[in-house]
Amino acid sequence: MKLIFEKSISGRTGFSLPASDVAEYKLSDGALRAAAAELPEVSELDLVRHYDALAARAYGVDSGFYPLGSCTMKYNPKLNETVAALAGFTELHPLQEPSSAQGALEAIYTLTESLKEITGMDDGTLQPAAGAHGEFTSLLMIGAYFKKKGEKRTKIIVPDSAHGTNPASAAMAGFEIVNIPSDANGYVDTEVLANAMTEEVAAFMLTNPNTVGLFEKNIGKISRIVHDKGGLLYYDGANLNAVMGIVRPGDMGFDIMHINLHKTFSTPHGGGGPGSGPVLCKKALAPHLPYPLVEKKKDGRFGYRKTSLASIGRVRAFQGNFLVEIRALAYIIALGREGIRDAAEKAVLNANYMKSLVSEFLTAPHKGACMHEFVASCEKLKEETGVSALDVAKALIDHGMHPPTIYFPLIVHEAMMFEPTETESRETIDEAVAALKEIVAQAKTDPESIKKSPLTTPVGRPDEVKAARKPILKI
Ligand SMILES: *Cc1c(COP(=O)(O)O)cnc(C)c1O
Repeated sequence: MKLIFEKSISGRTGFSLPASDVAEYKLSDGALRAAAAELPEVSELDLVRHYDALAARAYGVDSGFYPLGSCTMKYNPKLNETVAALAGFTELHPLQEPSSAQGALEAIYTLTESLKEITGMDDGTLQPAAGAHGEFTSLLMIGAYFKKKGEKRTKIIVPDSAHGTNPASAAMAGFEIVNIPSDANGYVDTEVLANAMTEEVAAFMLTNPNTVGLFEKNIGKISRIVHDKGGLLYYDGANLNAVMGIVRPGDMGFDIMHINLHKTFSTPHGGGGPGSGPVLCKKALAPHLPYPLVEKKKDGRFGYRKTSLASIGRVRAFQGNFLVEIRALAYIIALGREGIRDAAEKAVLNANYMKSLVSEFLTAPHKGACMHEFVASCEKLKEETGVSALDVAKALIDHGMHPPTIYFPLIVHEAMMFEPTETESRETIDEAVAALKEIVAQAKTDPESIKKSPLTTPVGRPDEVKAARKPILKI
């Protein structure tokens, strides 16, 4: 397909305007571009067809099954879009006086209060723009907390099953990373943790359920090990899908955490954003939250809190990705307390249903029940047939579905990580499992055909290394 610039014909336009009835105004030289902007010159129809064709090639949750583990690609109810498109939200200016933006401030306040309730935390900010940004914000707060206490703590412990953003955020915030291996069953090895947990450690970053889809049953013990040495416990709450409405990180002993609104709270994501990664914390860390924070005043009106001198400062302009926050609030209000718990239970049920079917023909290295996602391995299949997790993932595209996450977590060879989410029906899961089963059977009889897939897409197998190392981002 041609780029829109390649469709450009000099002099062609996509609009016609009536002749101007006001005199031409000459701008001063400094206000004018030196050369005309290079824009494609196409007709309105060319433009519509171009973007319509591109849209038809894109694949999203609205197109079909999208079990991308760790990413929670659940369906986003359209009601949330309608609410976020209300003129009262979209036509606000971020610098408007609080007195003229009461509704927006109330929305921010109500969402923060709801998230505090869901997580069992005491305070929070909606400012960070994504999960990794929430981690970074939290780590700056952890740094500020120990600085104020006069303790020199330079290390952050991260398990080997952690999402890659955890060590990256800790390193960006100036900490040294201590990586600890999981035990044979995929859980935190509490003995290894106890040995690593010294008084130089500021925090232990944990995802629970962890990235292999298991709930750390020893969380009480883990919390004691960290707190006994004066450290803090950090919760990577990118996905709350398995636990929301059931257990709360604040009650498990966590001190600070982030949430991805663009995963659990039904905001469209993928393709680079926008997202939102609120940070929630216990009282002891609250003075370090970024500002401005919204408060409800005694007279019931909303405004900004007095800035704490210990605040780490702003981490983003204005109030973060405000319309993402509105979508999350609409979702939480629509579901309510019961609905949120119900969503979590169905997410776990769907994952376990799919896991039990898939483990009939692929290895599921972690025994027993999973949470909202599970890991299967193509290691044995690859030994027998030469067909890898990547090949199976590519073949799934030809069956009309998005592949699962592959080669993550790193601790499972030839990993495929499935997260069906609560919004999928049993029929959809059955169809996906049937497709997977067919591919595995075909790998045993005709491995070469699987290695050629996908055959139904405009682009088959892009050179992924080249795409990452030498991207061509403009012509
Ligand atoms: C997605 C994810 C993150 C990072 O979130 P971004 O919004 O992509 O920065 C961190 N941790 C876990 C467990 C995740 O699944």
